[in-house]
Amino acid sequence: MVATAPHSGDPNRVDIAVLGGGPAGAATALALRRHDPSWSVAIVEASDYRAARIGETLPPSTRRLLEHLGIWQAFLDAGHMPSHGTTAAWGSEEPHENEFIVHPDGEGWHLDRARFDALLAARAKTRGAQLWTGCTFINSDRHDGGWQLTLRQDGEQRIAQARFVVDATGRRAAFARRQNIGRIVCDRLLGLYAFFDLKEDTVLPATHTLVEAWEEGWWYSARLPDNRLVVACMSDDDRIAALDLRHRRPWLEALATTQQTCQILAYTGLDHDPTCHPAQSQLLESVVGDSWLAVGDAASTFDPLSSQGIFKALHFGIWAAYAISDHLQGQQNTQPQNDNQHQPDGLTRYARLVEANFDGYLTARREYYREEGRWPEAPFWRRRAGQIHLDPHLQLQSRDNERLSGQTQMSTSDVNRLCSLCREPSAAHEIVARFQHQRPGVASDHRIILVLQDLLTEGTLITATPNA
Ligand SMILES: Cc1cc2nc3c(=O)[nH]c(=O)nc-3n(C[C@H](O)[C@H](O)[C@H](O)COP(=O)(O)OP(=O)(O)OC[C@H]3O[C@@H](n4cnc5c(N)ncnc54)[C@H](O)[C@@H]3O)c2cc1C
Repeated sequence: MVATAPHSGDPNRVDIAVLGGGPAGAATALALRRHDPSWSVAIVEASDYRAARIGETLPPSTRRLLEHLGIWQAFLDAGHMPSHGTTAAWGSEEPHENEFIVHPDGEGWHLDRARFDALLAARAKTRGAQLWTGCTFINSDRHDGGWQLTLRQDGEQRIAQARFVVDATGRRAAFARRQNIGRIVCDRLLGLYAFFDLKEDTVLPATHTLVEAWEEGWWYSARLPDNRLVVACMSDDDRIAALDLRHRRPWLEALATTQQTCQILAYTGLDHDPTCHPAQSQLLESVVGDSWLAVGDAASTFDPLSSQGIFKALHFGIWAAYAISDHLQGQQNTQPQNDNQHQPDGLTRYARLVEANFDGYLTARREYYREEGRWPEAPFWRRRAGQIHLDPHLQLQSRDNERLSGQTQMSTSDVNRLCSLCREPSAAHEIVARFQHQRPGVASDHRIILVLQDLLTEGTLITATPNA
């Protein structure tokens, strides 16, 4: 039997506090309220949804999630722009088209993101969640088996209490990072984007997302509702610095070197620097903990190339609601459940799902980047080729006091373990075997070798001659 909200009356005491009201947080709140309306839920959202947001292409299958959340019709009424597919100049100069017409769920969408996020949050509110906008999560302390949260709203401190906390603050994972949870960061991708207002009479070739590879990364552009257009340049932080791409002129010059994307320059110009947004693929080292879980980008972020970020946020928001429900019900069951003794609890199952999903994503991402082979020597593409060139007999040694860059495909503690295995010069294949022995199942040989290669490239490891 699930108890009703124990804190009714005091708006600052809720069963579940959802930190962050983006797609992941709003979907979690919507699904929680749908799942069990007796729980009190508050969404704590720093913004007021007025500023423009990045991330706008929605694949057709998202329809099923919006239907599940009960907001499909409201979404249709909100005036987003149907998208009929993707055009990709990837692997060759020749663009090829992937039409959504063959997709069982029909068309995809180009969103006004701020409007989309605001709609989801407003629907959660209609469903009975509290929505605290302009309210930023600052700090947390354990309190009475749950959490005490320090928030800031309209310049004032606000204290709230919750039995359970959902970290949906996006890739910064503000709550999890406060709990000192580390991140596995897989690359150094950044997005430099600009929105353009098109003239009323502009006739652009339509409603496809255009993706185009170039030597330093790739570009995407998409038409948005209200005669707007977004253009983004994706590259690694060091290449962006080397090419000075954060500034308007070099960004426009780089755009002019593309074969397809440059065509938008005939319709519009740019009078300010592009906006920079981190876009690394990353995974929290733990996506659940004591009375909390992370969802959406806070838990794991995907390369925008996948166009899966919003879908994943909604999908895992729904799973998160099930996991929380399972967890809170388990807390209330004082009698041991013999039948379920060996069943992992909802939070553990949820964590496994997130991790498996991330592993599958990394494989798909590697395959997709490998399809582009025109610039094998360019740093951006070489880093993504995932090719092994390390001689298994090469002797490796870790350098004293070398600072790690934190951009490897493993947790910091596992990278440190790898480095400690190289305190004395050792052959690469021996290091892999010893790591597998100490940490069975954590990573494939392939992944460990890639990490060794990265550490060698960045200078954390050096080649050495074996001890006599
Ligand atoms: C350049 C780029 C292009 C992209 N393109 C696409 C695309 O085409 N399609 C796609 O599906 N995905 C795309 N993505 C990814 C997509 O935007 C994200 O995956 C998605 O926004 C994740 O949703 P979320 O709710 O987890 O996080 P977010 O959307 O980041 O939402 C987090 C929310 O938390 C709030 N918040 C943050 N900190 C606090 C705090 N301390 N207190 C209170 N509130 C806080 C924020 O205001 C925000 O509302 C793109 C990403 C990038 C970088």
